Parts: sequence; structure tokens; C-alpha cells
Amino acid sequence: MTRSGTDILISGASVAGPVLAYWLRRYGFTPVVVERTPELRLGTGGHAVDLFEPAVEVAARMGVLDRVRAARTRTAVLTMVRPGRRQVDVDLERLAAGVSDDRHVEVMRGELAAILHEATRDDVEYVFGDSISGMSEDAGGVDVTFDKGAPRRFDLVIGADGLHSTVRRLAFGPESDYRRFLGGYLAAFSLPNHLGLDGRLMMYSAVDKLIGFYPVWQTGEARAVFMLRRAEEFDYHHRDLARQKELLRGAFAGEGWEVPRLLAELDGAEDFYLDSISQILMDDWTRGRFALVGDAGYSPGPAIGGGTTVAVVGAYTLAGRLAAADGDHTAAFPAYQEELRPYVLRTREVGPAVMKTLVPANRAGSDLRAAFLRLLPRLPAPVRRAILSSDSRASKVLASAEIRDYAPVG
Ligand SMILES: Cc1cc2nc3c(=O)[nH]c(=O)nc-3n(C[C@H](O)[C@H](O)[C@H](O)COP(=O)(O)OP(=O)(O)OC[C@H]3O[C@@H](n4cnc5c(N)ncnc54)[C@H](O)[C@@H]3O)c2cc1C
Repeated sequence: MTRSGTDILISGASVAGPVLAYWLRRYGFTPVVVERTPELRLGTGGHAVDLFEPAVEVAARMGVLDRVRAARTRTAVLTMVRPGRRQVDVDLERLAAGVSDDRHVEVMRGELAAILHEATRDDVEYVFGDSISGMSEDAGGVDVTFDKGAPRRFDLVIGADGLHSTVRRLAFGPESDYRRFLGGYLAAFSLPNHLGLDGRLMMYSAVDKLIGFYPVWQTGEARAVFMLRRAEEFDYHHRDLARQKELLRGAFAGEGWEVPRLLAELDGAEDFYLDSISQILMDDWTRGRFALVGDAGYSPGPAIGGGTTVAVVGAYTLAGRLAAADGDHTAAFPAYQEELRPYVLRTREVGPAVMKTLVPANRAGSDLRAAFLRLLPRLPAPVRRAILSSDSRASKVLASAEIRDYAPVG
């Protein structure tokens, strides 16, 4: 089945972009995906992300769930280190025994993007190493110019290009109109696994600071993620990596454990990333022939808000609504917003709440969490189940999207 007049440009080939492309193709549309990075970086690309129940369901419907599960991170033990306190080891497998319902998968974002790309690349045109530079909408379509490629015309343009979306800037206005700073920073980079970790996540927790250090089994390297609570925003340019590394060094100077060693690796870190922990708050994520999906339109906050699940659900919903309206975006876009809005609003509450518990603001909070973690695996499964389900409001919120059937797929 091929629909005419339904050429759709998608900006971004991470999570939301390829999921959207997959479903659009299955419904008979002709999606084209443009991605700024020159190539997908397998395994090393990014950080660990979570697929909660609705996203797991979408992955199953796409036929990629087995591959995603096979690529999952294999964290069996969490070791929590705190200045001046005893180390706490938590057996995560024991914690999950009898509790986990297998409706959650943790996987490296680069692996997920590669699997999604592989599932779509035979039927979808991908253009790597380019970016939209301008868009001009008229009654019949959108003329698009690119940094490198020749201009092209599309019926619709969808931004799946993340927190700093170009489509959002061009079609909806500056990022500052929509970004809400949640009071913290996040940095991540790959480095040698000098501790020889295997299946173990090390977590260093100090007041207002948290570091995760975990092995990436596919590459033999490790990944460090730094989180910092901070009321004021740093002053830096997003392209100035040297300045960002300097800010990170300053913020974590004087910390013990392996922190000096991790910071020393910053110089050689090629995939270094630092960003504010921010949400994107928009009342409308469609306008005319433009729509946003995933972090670009409704990021609940990186690392703390379950953005990957929301991105998958959003992409599936947008494609479904376009199919149900037979490609008529004037009907499909409002329906997409209406259906997704309650879920997006619920997920906005997750980030600030997780931030509070993940990065304790004082030693008492840190002690309480350590005691909780130490006790939890020793409790019988029904008690653990009761505690975990009442404790994990975030997972409940993220699981609360309904995955519908919209139209016959080809
Ligand atoms: C350090 C860190 C840790 C995280 N941890 C978690 C976690 O534990 N659990 C979780 O669920 N989520 C986590 N997230 C958030 C998660 O990564 C995002 O919510 C998810 O990747 C959103 O997918 P997306 O496709 O909407 O956007 P993104 O994954 O941000 O992808 C956007 C894509 O667009 C491309 N792009 C950008 N600009 C352009 C342009 N102008 N033209 C073309 N392409 C462009 C980018 O290169 C990228 O490929 C974390 C994020 C970070 C940064």
C-alpha cells in the first residue's frame, strides 16, 4: 500500500525518528529521515535508557523486542559508595526475583537507535550528516533547505531532533520560550573500564551530587554519568566542550573515591556530553504542517524522566493518527495532541520527583536511601513487590499509556 501526497520529512534518527518512520512506512506513507551525525555509533552512542511497558509493547509490534532484550545492559549488582560511610551492595537480580514482570528493558541508546535503524533502513530513505537549515510552508506543502543537500519539498515536516530541536526553533520559536530548568546538570562520557567492572553499577553519592560508573559489555569500555543539583544555570556555549569540562571538574573537585581518576579521563573523552536537566513545556507540539515528537516536543527531563518511553509512545501515536486520518494532517495533528496530552502532562511530574530522591540534598536523605537499599533485597518477594510498586510512582506513570490499533498495516 502506498499513499500519494504523503512525503514526510523527519529530522532526527535516534529513537522517536526511526519509530515514527517505521510506522509511517507500514501505513503506506513515504518518510525520509535526516540525521545530523554522520553515522550511527553502535553501542558507544549515548547512555543507558529505559523502555517501560508501552514502549516494550511497541517494540514487540515492530518485531524488534528480542533484539532489544538481547542488547540489554546486564547490571546485576549496584554498589553504592558514600564519603565516610560503609559501601552498600545491592543484588539487583535478587531484588527483581519474583517482582519484575519483564515489562521493562534497559538498553544503551546507541544500541536501540541502531536496532531501530536496521528495522527501517531497507524501506526508508536515511540522509546522514545533514540538517534542515530553512523551511517555508504554503497551502500545498513545505519547501525545505538543508545545510548540505539540495532543497526538497515535503507534505509534512516532523521534528524528532531532541531537546535542542532545529524544527522547533524554525517552526515554533526559540528554545528559551519552552525550556524549564529543573535545577541540575547532567554529564556523560565513555572511558576505560579501569575497575574491571562486570555487571556492576557503581554509584557514588554525595550531597547534591551523584555519579554512575558502569561497564558497557558490547564495547568493553565503561560509561560515567555525573549529576549535579544546582539552583543557578551555568554560563557556557553549547559547543564549547572545553569550558563544559572545566565546569564539571570544578563542581566535582575535592570529591573522594574514584572521582579524580574519572575526571582525569575527561581530556580524552571524545563523546563528552553536558547539558542542563530541563524539560520542554509546550501547550501545542503541532503547527500547520509541522509537528514535534519525543524530546523535541515534550522532553520530561534527560536521565530522570523516562523520555525514551515517551518518545516511542509519541511516535507510535503520531503515525497511527496520520494513518487513521488518511494523511489529513489537519485532522491527525489535533487528534495526536489530544490523545497524548494527558500522558505527557503526567510524565512532567516524574522528573522533579525523581531528581529529589536520586540526588539527596543532605546526608540524612543519603543515609535513608542506603538503609532502604540494604534492606530491600532481604525482604520476601510479596513485601518487596508491595514496596516497589508503591515506591515507583514514576514507573507507574510511564506505564500508563495505552497502545491502540489505528489502521490496518501493510
Ligand atoms: C545522559 C543522559 C541519560 C539519560 N538517561 C535516560 C534514562 O535512564 N532513561 C530514559 O528513558 N531516558 C534517558 N535519557 C533521555 C533519553 O535519551 C531521551 O529521552 C530519548 O533519547 C529521546 O529520544 P528522541 O529520539 O526524542 O531524541 P534524541 O535521542 O535526543 O535524538 C535526537 C536525534 O536528533 C538528531 N539531531 C539533533 N539535531 C538535529 C538536526 N538539526 N538535524 C538532524 N538531526 C538532528 C540527534 O543527533 C539525535 O540523533 C537520558 C538522556 C541523557 C542525555
